[in-house]
Amino acid sequence: MTIELSQLTKKFAALTAVDAIDLDVGEGEVLCLLGPSGCGKTTTLRMIAGLEWATSGDITLGGRRVNDLSARERNVAMSFQFYALYPSLTVAENLAYPLHAEGLSSSQIKAKVAETSRVLQLDPILERRPGQLAEGEKQRVAVGRSIIRDPNCFLFDEPLSRLDVQLREEMRGEIKEVLQGLHRPTVIVTHDQLEALTMADRISVMRDGRIEQVASPHEIFQQPANLFVAGFIGTPAMNLIPATLTGMDGETNATFALEGGQTIAITVDPAVARLKHGATVTLGIRPRNLDIVHEDVSDGLSSVIDIIEPMGAETLAHLNDGRHDLRVVTDWRTPLEEGDRVHVRFQPGAVHVFGSDQQAVRSA
Ligand code: ATP
Repeated sequence: MTIELSQLTKKFAALTAVDAIDLDVGEGEVLCLLGPSGCGKTTTLRMIAGLEWATSGDITLGGRRVNDLSARERNVAMSFQFYALYPSLTVAENLAYPLHAEGLSSSQIKAKVAETSRVLQLDPILERRPGQLAEGEKQRVAVGRSIIRDPNCFLFDEPLSRLDVQLREEMRGEIKEVLQGLHRPTVIVTHDQLEALTMADRISVMRDGRIEQVASPHEIFQQPANLFVAGFIGTPAMNLIPATLTGMDGETNATFALEGGQTIAITVDPAVARLKHGATVTLGIRPRNLDIVHEDVSDGLSSVIDIIEPMGAETLAHLNDGRHDLRVVTDWRTPLEEGDRVHVRFQPGAVHVFGSDQQAVRSA
């Protein structure tokens, strides 16, 4: 079973909420739709579920075009939360609940409950009520209730948003494990990047109804395709510095001039050599890929520590030289004083270069 979206579009009067997106979700794959509020995540999910008609494009489930089928005929499981269990029913009764509407016999229901319980290892708790369960167990029961009808795919809209921070952390890993074992495609909508980075096999980053990049969490973080993804993924956010390419020495040693007159010589992707001298670019460097040093260095910048924010094991320093704001994360032991002039070195190989079209300049 797979989900395929092809040129899928949704218009609400003059507003294009989802703009010709193409997306595949494989069997057993967990795909997260991630993006800022209003970018079209929920609308995409509702179109797959059959709760919203597509304006154009195709939705295919397991090779069958389902655009014209009702939500019920599509047999998808859509849930807004991972657990909303009936507190007065036992685990077994909670699992059986969705089956009553299907007109199954009691022996068929019993067999399905037993099978779901086996898959999710719920046998020891079948007779308990939700109030007697640990949070992780509740979660598994809720997943059980979604899968017991044997749906074609799972769709979740901000499933963890109502949980407290600690619980959310526990759930993320567990959910991924359970969903991967089900051999169905899963789409999860979230605006929380940590949630997406930990739960997804692949992340689709959306903006203004379009997909900016689809890739594994690792790739989205390490190789953002464009400036939007670079700035959106990662906390603290990537430093983005406007610069001009002023020289190349060999294939990968580039020199850039920054506003205000500083220059920096750094190792870059060989594709940067194809840019014209004088090209306007944006340099991207993550706060953890900058080191504060005390000597002046050619592969770094000089600036002044503006604000120091302790973050436990690490310290976030905001540097400002009057033109550029830089965020640097250091070990908490690094001695820093607000007002000190320091130098920051760019760790080799950690710089991203974005062209004037906002796309990453990178060899394939
Ligand atoms: P959020 O995280 O805030 O839910 P989202 O990425 O899920 O955002 P959508 O809910 O899909 O975004 O909305 C996409 C755009 O479509 C928004 O501009 C929204 O206002 C608009 N929209 C959504 N549903 C409707 C509707 N029924 N009628 C008109 N406009 C709508």
